Amino acid sequence: MQIIDIPDYVKRALNLLESSGYEAYIVGGAARDIILGDVPSDYDIASSATPDECLGVFEKAKIKTVDTSKKHGTIVVIIEGHQIEITTYRVDGDYADNRHPDNVTFTRSIEEDVARRDFTMNAIYINSNSELVDLFGGIKDIEAGIIRTCGEPDRRFEEDALRIMRALRFAAVLGFEIEEKTRASIFKNYKLLSGISKERIATEFIKLLKGKNASGVIREYLEVFGLFLPVLLKMKGFDQKTKYHDKDMLEHTLAVLDGIDPKTDELCMAALLHDVGKTEVFCVDKNGVGHMKNHNKYSMIIAEKFLSDLKFSNSFKKKVDNLIRLHDVFPQSEVQIRKFLAHSSVEFMRELSVLQRADINGHAPNHRERMAYVDLREKIIDKIIVEEQCINMRELAISGQDVIDAGIPEGPRVGEIMRHVFSKVLEGTLANEKEEIIRYIGDRFNGKGK
Ligand code: ATP
Ligand code: MG
Repeated sequence: MQIIDIPDYVKRALNLLESSGYEAYIVGGAARDIILGDVPSDYDIASSATPDECLGVFEKAKIKTVDTSKKHGTIVVIIEGHQIEITTYRVDGDYADNRHPDNVTFTRSIEEDVARRDFTMNAIYINSNSELVDLFGGIKDIEAGIIRTCGEPDRRFEEDALRIMRALRFAAVLGFEIEEKTRASIFKNYKLLSGISKERIATEFIKLLKGKNASGVIREYLEVFGLFLPVLLKMKGFDQKTKYHDKDMLEHTLAVLDGIDPKTDELCMAALLHDVGKTEVFCVDKNGVGHMKNHNKYSMIIAEKFLSDLKFSNSFKKKVDNLIRLHDVFPQSEVQIRKFLAHSSVEFMRELSVLQRADINGHAPNHRERMAYVDLREKIIDKIIVEEQCINMRELAISGQDVIDAGIPEGPRVGEIMRHVFSKVLEGTLANEKEEIIRYIGDRFNGKGK
């Protein structure tokens, strides 16, 4: 028998509802995580109490409540600094548009609430005494590592096609297999995903990409991903005809994705997209060797369209874009690296190294020479940091006022001179020392701003 450890603040919420005569259970991801032996990051509760009844119970106990989405049955309570979502047992109405139930009806029946949940592993209920309600056999499926819809998969995916992405996301994150009928239904119904809000898809997609078996899921369900990123279908079986690659384009990409560590949103997305432009520029010379000049540029164009379609934020797009643009660039001298750092940041360069290492490891084993460039660059970055070298205008030993004091009249010329001085410092031809810089300004600009 599994030992179920429920934190005191969650027990308190469950107990308050129970002692007022209602049912209350930990549900969803938290219950799943507990059965998996993981510690949930947050706890959701399902209760037979209506939202108003819940509010009444917690207000009486002087616990802070937030009425987030009472209409849909959810309120939030804050106990000992932790937020807990409490959702009233519901029956979802008809789904006319494959995504939103037309109306939400509250119910006192746990059986009805269980039936609306997506997968058996997400339909387990745990109460304050650690008693389990598992009407769909979720525990058995978790133990076997299986994702299975609650009820007929076709009907469940037709109701809400996002569940298809959720199934793939859970398969990638948990390393589970999708049960045969559920799998067949995904292939039958995945086109319904085109009617689902892009933001909801993007949220699942990014979680999926960071999953430990993302590559396996993308490989197995390639058609589904092709719906959003058709170029992936072209990449399968695409021989790059160079000695640097022993895998086709898709397999190389998946190897790079596997190699990303740590798995951040931007790095995983850049890994997926870094080479997609190769399909556009590929050509074979008279010796039968493949060339993919400027592929970064085309990868960026395809990435921009894909990320915009899925409504990713501008800052996310910019970061991914920069990673793709530079994934084949290897500055090696201290001067080059200082200039790179000045345009980006130490954090960005470290992330670029993660992508480049994964990319290089995805090349044929005897063509990973570029790893030495990354190693060297990392050492040089360490040195720049230890020596506190100037890589930012703000770190210059002089200020705008110093430039004015050196005889340059106030105005745009001051900024120009600051930028000029900064570029000299980056190049290593001028030391970042106040006296020396002032002398340089005096000599070079004659103290008259000309
Ligand atoms: P995570 O660990 O990402 O939070 P989760 O399973 O908790 O995973 P949530 O989106 O937080 O996912 O949803 C909580 C619960 O609500 C799920 O476990 C599931 O029971 C139910 N649920 C969520 N989305 C759907 C859906 N589209 N269709 C049916 N049930 C759903
Ligand atoms: Mg959750």
